[in-house]
Amino acid sequence: MKPGIHPDYHPVTVHCACGHTFPTRSTMKGDLLKVEICSNCHPFFTGKQKLVDTAGRVERFQKKYASAQAAQAAIQAGNKK
Ligand SMILES: [Zn+2]
Repeated sequence: MKPGIHPDYHPVTVHCACGHTFPTRSTMKGDLLKVEICSNCHPFFTGKQKLVDTAGRVERFQKKYASAQAAQAAIQAGNKK
């Protein structure tokens, strides 16, 4: 390989919210990749229906929604003038 032009492709450990871990390789920084769903727990692969809410997806949405609400409040405060 030509030196200096390739990203650092190294082994990483994928750690799923369900507790499943498996090794792979990646160009990402660091060596631990955290995922919310993997082939071990995704309903498509398990064949079981389940609520896919792991690793704080709801919390993340609520955080996003809170900032949107704050923006709305700011707009309304601006409209009152
Ligand atoms: Zn999983």
